Amino acid sequence: MADWNIAPTPENYELFYVYATGNNPALAKTIEGMVKARISFTHAVLQDLSSRFLPHERTVQTMDDVGVGISSMIDAMLTKLEKAGKDAGEYGRTLSAASGELGGTQSPAAMAKLVDRLVGATQAMENRAKVLESELQRSSNQVNELKTQLDTVRKESRLDPLTNLANRKAFDLELQAAIEDARETNTSVALMMCDIDHFKRFNDTWGHQTGDQVLRLVSNCLSENVKGRDTAARYGGEEFVVILRRTELVGAKKLATQIRCNVENKKLVKKSTGDILGTITISIGVSELKKNDTAELLVQRADRCLYKAKNTGRNRVVAEDELLAASNAA
Ligand code: GH3
Ligand code: MG
Ligand code: MG
Repeated sequence: MADWNIAPTPENYELFYVYATGNNPALAKTIEGMVKARISFTHAVLQDLSSRFLPHERTVQTMDDVGVGISSMIDAMLTKLEKAGKDAGEYGRTLSAASGELGGTQSPAAMAKLVDRLVGATQAMENRAKVLESELQRSSNQVNELKTQLDTVRKESRLDPLTNLANRKAFDLELQAAIEDARETNTSVALMMCDIDHFKRFNDTWGHQTGDQVLRLVSNCLSENVKGRDTAARYGGEEFVVILRRTELVGAKKLATQIRCNVENKKLVKKSTGDILGTITISIGVSELKKNDTAELLVQRADRCLYKAKNTGRNRVVAEDELLAASNAA
């Protein structure tokens, strides 16, 4: 890490620890490719690597733990059930022996002895059944605990840890689902691609920790404005995307403008010192699903609009009808 000038933060250590174990060939291949190509490990690059490779690493580990838990529990239950089967067999044999004895004529004393034996065997069986019942109850509690653990991992593997928005993987899945829904219901899907303006300058002036605070502020703005069946996600570094189901371009444009204004009007105060940090602005590109469109093309067009918003002054919204108008005029 020192050779490559990588800051010794816990996140970076984790990343390079996983790299050093050699257990993640995809990460190793990516890092080695970057070293060969002399790409420098900037903060954004490291963040991207962590978000692409580490959540997976953690998920795999937890899935492994849950898997081991489940399989050892199943083994234990099988042993108990086998034992219960043997106990029941023994009880059955006692009963059939008794029924055989009942066939002959019995003296009252022999009868009393037989009844005693039956009562004893029945009580023993009853006790074993109680023990088995409580063991089964305990196992079912354990299964429920494992299920909750699994649900948590599943949710976490789709969240961006810094902003708590959906991560890139969740975004990809959700966009695919939204497009399928639009085709089935003959409705529209709109996509917003947002990027913080001059964020590098902001980081250079105030430091990355304050930069991270800004990322959370922008993501809060998105969450506040996006509800129900819509999804806001962190696309990468300081870029965010919003999927708007059953929404046409005009509606999406309005919402984008509202979000843009919301961000601009937030007061930015540095937590540690109380310094006023000025304002943050974002640029947004908006596209809408077309006939024979793909997720890739939809993202590409939103990105092109975003690029235009940047080039025409930032802190603005550009929708794809404006792109078309511009290219028709040209
Ligand atoms: P533009 O208006 O053209 O978007 O300018 P910009 O400076 O925002 O764009 P550029 O893509 O050059 O820089 C993005 C910067 O965002 C680089 C990096 O400093 C910062 N950044 C990316 N991810 C993170 C992050 O997770 N935390 C912090 N603090 N900064 C980040
Ligand atoms: Mg950017
Ligand atoms: Mg930017």
